[in-house]
Amino acid sequence: RIKKQGKNNYGIYSTYEDDNMANPIVLENDLRKALERNEFVVYYQPKIDVEREMISGVEALVRWEHPKKGLITPIHFIPLAEETGLILQIGEYVLRQACQQCVQWQRLGLPPIPVSVNLSIGQFMQSNLISNIQRIMNETGIQPELLEFEITESMSMNLERSIEILSELQKLGVHISVDDFGTGYSSLNYLRQLPIDTVKIDKSFMKGIPNDRNNEAIVATIINMAHNLNLTVTAEGVETFDQVQYLRKHNCDNIQGFYFRRPLPAEVFEQEFQHILNDIQKVTKIPI
Ligand code: C2E
Ligand code: MG
Ligand code: MG
Ligand code: MG
Repeated sequence: RIKKQGKNNYGIYSTYEDDNMANPIVLENDLRKALERNEFVVYYQPKIDVEREMISGVEALVRWEHPKKGLITPIHFIPLAEETGLILQIGEYVLRQACQQCVQWQRLGLPPIPVSVNLSIGQFMQSNLISNIQRIMNETGIQPELLEFEITESMSMNLERSIEILSELQKLGVHISVDDFGTGYSSLNYLRQLPIDTVKIDKSFMKGIPNDRNNEAIVATIINMAHNLNLTVTAEGVETFDQVQYLRKHNCDNIQGFYFRRPLPAEVFEQEFQHILNDIQKVTKIPI
């Protein structure tokens, strides 16, 4: 991996952000304090529609800005947050932040930027999920079509219940995507019974593209099946130009990954907005 010299730490060819994220042991009480002290921050990673040369949206990704230990990655606290139920508060905080940010960007004169928020299983199963979301949407004034929720395959194992919840969400006018697609054990056909809009191909399938025959076949097949079922497709974990070219060749709708940008603090995303568009144009000038 080429380490970027100067400019900033967020763009193309920068190091993995994990390199400078802390890896501490987190206890329930630490999480409670972090909530009280407002130490969670939301980063935004752009999703790129290469064909249309636009930023098709951003994914909101939570980080914990620990005063002593630095930036802590979600894998070190989301599982405990789910176990302890604190995910409900963290999730609500992330949702409110993301909605406010979306509205704020439009006030700043940026084009409409849809935001995606990850839902955990605990939130998804919460009895007042819909009224909570509705309340936050009202409070922030976000346009429903600019809000998307990401659920995972495993959350839809109870098909009937999932259809109920997702239909209620759909009535709010928000979009739904299925995250980490291909890692669970449900088929795309099963998923198609759910009211969803998008599948996100799990980043593990991006490894070895364009040389790994198996992963190539899986990615191409998911894109085709999704399109045949009238769903859009986002590829996650896209790190190399060759991966971008492969995905362009196979008409993948959206590309998300370190190749374009890693997750950014909101104000860095604003500063980078035009540069991201320039980077997209550089890519589209190169034939597939
Ligand atoms: P996810 O929803 O699948 O999010 C994508 C993850 O892939 C993010 O990790 C992102 O930083 C990382 N990523 C993006 N591009 C690349 C790339 O090119 N290469 C590689 N190797 N990774 C890439 P992050 O931010 O550490 O989040 C990890 C997971 O934590 C998320 O996976 C999601 O499941 C969970 N998470 C993050 N924020 C939230 C949240 O607000 N609520 C809930 N419930 N879960 C969250
Ligand atoms: Mg996600
Ligand atoms: Mg994912
Ligand atoms: Mg994931």
